[in-house]
Amino acid sequence: MITENNKKCAVIGAGVSGLGAAIRMRNKGYTVTVFEANTFPGGKCSSETKDGYRFDMGPSVFTMPQYVDELFILSGKNPRDHFNYIPLDPVYKYFFEDGTFLDAYHGKEKFAEQLAAKTKDKKEDIIKYLDKTETVYNLTDEVFLKNSLHRLKNFFTWPVLRGILNFGKIGAFDTMAGANKKSFKDSRLVQIFNRYATYNGSSPYLSPATLNVIAHVEIVKGAFYPEGGMVSITASLAKLAKDIGVTFHYGTPVREILIANKKITGVQTDNGTEAFDVVISNMDVYNSYKKLMPQVKRPAKTLDQPKSSSGIIFYWGINKEFKELGLHNILFAENYEEEFDTIFKKKSIYHDPTIYVNITSKHTPTDAPPGCENWFAFINVPNNQGQDWDMFITEARENMILKVNRILKTDIRPLIASEMVFDPRVIESRTSSAFGAIYGNSSNNKFAAFLRHANFSKDIKNLYFCGGSVHPGPSIPLCLCSAKITTDLIP
Ligand SMILES: Cc1cc2nc3c(=O)[nH]c(=O)nc-3n(C[C@H](O)[C@H](O)[C@H](O)COP(=O)(O)OP(=O)(O)OC[C@H]3O[C@@H](n4cnc5c(N)ncnc54)[C@H](O)[C@@H]3O)c2cc1C
Repeated sequence: MITENNKKCAVIGAGVSGLGAAIRMRNKGYTVTVFEANTFPGGKCSSETKDGYRFDMGPSVFTMPQYVDELFILSGKNPRDHFNYIPLDPVYKYFFEDGTFLDAYHGKEKFAEQLAAKTKDKKEDIIKYLDKTETVYNLTDEVFLKNSLHRLKNFFTWPVLRGILNFGKIGAFDTMAGANKKSFKDSRLVQIFNRYATYNGSSPYLSPATLNVIAHVEIVKGAFYPEGGMVSITASLAKLAKDIGVTFHYGTPVREILIANKKITGVQTDNGTEAFDVVISNMDVYNSYKKLMPQVKRPAKTLDQPKSSSGIIFYWGINKEFKELGLHNILFAENYEEEFDTIFKKKSIYHDPTIYVNITSKHTPTDAPPGCENWFAFINVPNNQGQDWDMFITEARENMILKVNRILKTDIRPLIASEMVFDPRVIESRTSSAFGAIYGNSSNNKFAAFLRHANFSKDIKNLYFCGGSVHPGPSIPLCLCSAKITTDLIP
């Protein structure tokens, strides 16, 4: 039962974090209106269908489902009546050019056993490594994921103080790749663990070893598949928001955040102006300042941090089923360091890219015609600095096909029955992400976590920010944490 407080809140953007914030604000008693530029909810987490193939256009790996469930429970509903998911085991299938194939299972024991059987490292050493990432997770979770890093009082709680006192133990002073090289003899294992830096668009050779906690989240806490695909996360949250009384205006970009005497007064759209007591922007924070309030002094140090990587994604309808592939597949580059150097230093695309292939028809057969598969084939690329993307797409397509052909020992070219492609320019225009970077600021330095924008404006009263471009950062679970941290700051 919601107790109305007669105050109005505008949420700019119906990304997963905007939806989380809208649901939380409505539950606080606010009258909530969501303005969304697209004609559909979800932002990066949306879906499209072409030639009988359905694709999740953005996120595909789902972890920490409790943060979605929490929103249903908060709204007095049983999540299982509205949103369902299954645990994955194995989670990933890894392929290397030397012919090695590895299944990555859920849980320390099973994961370590399978990897030890096929690599030079011992099961006990893999478990020891995972124990260490668990310790780091337990030390950092409260500090980085549950609280604003920009409110002094939050630093005086025991879990946060414990995290700070143990700063030396969390790997902030080593790089991810450096720490992983010290932990394993086998370069394939190092590569598997280095991969987790890409989950927030960073390079393992530059980002702090603290990010190894992502391995703990996926391998030990587990990865899940939402029934109906990733889009069911945002579709079910948009429905929940509507059911509890949130108003949505789709196809309605906010043009300006209205401010008077350093205080929010409302928003302006093409339909006119509307007064609000509180505004939460789920639009990328860089563009929130640049496009919606250019008169406000921008916090340049935070906003101008280097941005994360982006992606070239081919959505391929494949006219065949591949028994050797699963839901999540990685086809590794031979020289990982050179690949990241090319992306982050040369701002170019690599000739032998690591390819991620996601195939939801493995779990939802209706996502592809009978006997066929829907391939989301992704490579990491730099964000948009004006490179020749049309040329990159042509090159990437060729290199990706050649690599898949080598590893699967077949020619997929004649099997591509349908095709769509996204590049950083499309990601930028569809979601207003600065430079088409998928994950906001990169985490390519040890202070990155502290250099994300706060969840509130220090200068404008009643202006707040949530989503992947602000604290605590990108991914579905972190964006939902962002929504909670933000709305917890609002009385
Ligand atoms: C290819 C790809 C793969 C990914 N893989 C994963 C993964 O496997 N697992 C995972 O957890 N995460 C993954 N992510 C990251 C994850 O999708 C994002 O971190 C998350 O979805 C971002 O949500 P958000 O709420 O910040 O906003 P966004 O999804 O960026 O949405 C912002 C919304 O605001 C709207 N908007 C912008 N400006 C305005 C305006 N002026 N007025 C009105 N509306 C506006 C946009 O139209 C958009 O709908 C991936 C992302 C991509 C693109």
